[in-house]
Amino acid sequence: MSSPVSAPLLQMTLRAEPDIFVLRQRGREVALAVGLEYQDQIRIATALSEVARDLVRTVGGADVAFYAAGVEEGRPVLRVDLAPLRPFGPAGYQPVSGAVARLVDRLDLPPAEGVTVIRMSRRIPAHAEALTPQRLAALRARLAQSTPGSALDELTFQNEQLITALDEVRSQRDELRVLNEELQETNRGVLALYNQLSEELEETNRGVVALYAELDEKSAQLKAASESKSRFLANVSHELRAPVTAVIGLARLLADSASDPLTGEQARQVGLIRSSATDLLVLVNDLLDLAKAESGRIEPDWTEVDLRVVFGQLRGTLRALATRPGVELTIEEPPHPATLRSDETLLTRVLRNLLHNGLKFTEAGEVRMRADLVDGRWRIVVSDTGIGIAPDLHERIFEEFYQVPGSARGAGTGLGLPYARQLVMLLGGTLSVTSEPGRGSAFTLHLPLNGA
Ligand code: ADP
Repeated sequence: MSSPVSAPLLQMTLRAEPDIFVLRQRGREVALAVGLEYQDQIRIATALSEVARDLVRTVGGADVAFYAAGVEEGRPVLRVDLAPLRPFGPAGYQPVSGAVARLVDRLDLPPAEGVTVIRMSRRIPAHAEALTPQRLAALRARLAQSTPGSALDELTFQNEQLITALDEVRSQRDELRVLNEELQETNRGVLALYNQLSEELEETNRGVVALYAELDEKSAQLKAASESKSRFLANVSHELRAPVTAVIGLARLLADSASDPLTGEQARQVGLIRSSATDLLVLVNDLLDLAKAESGRIEPDWTEVDLRVVFGQLRGTLRALATRPGVELTIEEPPHPATLRSDETLLTRVLRNLLHNGLKFTEAGEVRMRADLVDGRWRIVVSDTGIGIAPDLHERIFEEFYQVPGSARGAGTGLGLPYARQLVMLLGGTLSVTSEPGRGSAFTLHLPLNGA
């Protein structure tokens, strides 16, 4: 131990009870000198006095040396060696107080291999002032000069320390109590919030359930209302058909050349009666058709339908209607084989209606019908270059009696498209429209190959 670094900072002997106080005091002093924190100073001093008491009682004391070790490796520790005055028995030495080992970072006890002294150490914090050889020399000189206080001094210090510790414990306990109360308060708040939320949730749930029940009831009512409306329409139109037909027949009789001649005015009035009654009959017939389709009273007659035949018939019957000079009616030949399972009469009725509308709402250009197979379904498109329909009305024109304002062209009831859509649905297909005002419209049917 000749190098200045490994030389002890302080040495002392421990022989009797009063030395225990001195050792404790000096331990604190050295710990403070090398830069240990306050709590660590107390820890190492306490560990020293516990071990010192054991040694005085069992082996008559020890020689004690304090070192600043490991300084060269840059991780300094304060190390204390206690060399017992007499050797321990074969069982070696164990401190009476189990707390000693916890108070220091490292504790080596005999009879561990190569250990003859009791050695304890505690790390010096990194932020402590660097222990250069010069500083160590200065510390050594200062410690050698300072005289230890009396046992009474140490007792007073310990007392003060105890009081500080007690105060700390008390204030910590108070803090803990406050925290606990706050926690309980928070808990109560959370619980109240939870209860409130779950009540609200339950309430909402009850509301939703009630709403659903109401919705179910409403939709049942709607269904019943729609059924009774269809029934009413079917009955009324059926009842109206006979008298209206009679009116037309009677008007025709009155105007007949075989009847008594009419004055010019009478002939004009009879003509008016006849044309009004004819319009009425069209309306009544349309209503009856729609009511039948809506109430499911139309049963499609499923057969093998050849689109070329259907298209051929329509070409023939509609040519007479396409009388506007600037409008061309083109019905393309469907690709071969053009068959599907459907109801020929109903399908023809739908297509005639769409072609009829096209001719009615087109001033110039063309009305065209073509068919092709797309994804295993027939697609039939009836397009025109007519007045077109604003986008927000694309669905409305499928409502009963709806006619686009200002579009009126001769006789029309606003029942054709809803009826057409009903029929297409009965045939297992869909009917939709794309259209732009001023550019024309295209009505597209998709129909399954094998019926509904
Ligand atoms: P209707 O033709 O007897 O008035 P529809 O149900 O067939 O009744 O048609 C409803 C409305 O949809 C028509 O009044 C018209 O305003 C509009 N519409 C139908 N087809 C066309 C078309 N090809 N071009 C422009 N508007 C059309």
